[in-house]
Amino acid sequence: MQELQPHGAQWFAVVLRTAPAFAQAVRFTIQCERSSRVCSICGEPPVGDFRVIEPVVTPRGVPTIRLCDCCLTASDNMGEMLVPVRGPDSVTRRIARAGQATFGALWKRIYLARR
Ligand SMILES: [Zn+2]
Repeated sequence: MQELQPHGAQWFAVVLRTAPAFAQAVRFTIQCERSSRVCSICGEPPVGDFRVIEPVVTPRGVPTIRLCDCCLTASDNMGEMLVPVRGPDSVTRRIARAGQATFGALWKRIYLARR
């Protein structure tokens, strides 16, 4: 499956169809912050882009999302399953094996630590 870069033209084309209210909210945030390098939910500086595997917080039909540290932790606590879009394969596999309960902690420890 093709990864859609969050907040890109193709991403908006998909999300406007599947979750129009969410697409409009993100568009408004981008306009306010004058940058698309923002968290899809709150507009804070993002920590990364994520593929939505099992949506809980994110509306269904949103393929990928850009999140800040707080919203990543919040989504994780709600039981949402996400994997980093640009994470190395080994990281994605470890996260998939670990399951959703420990996703946030694992991702921060093994992926963020390398940057
Ligand atoms: Zn956020």
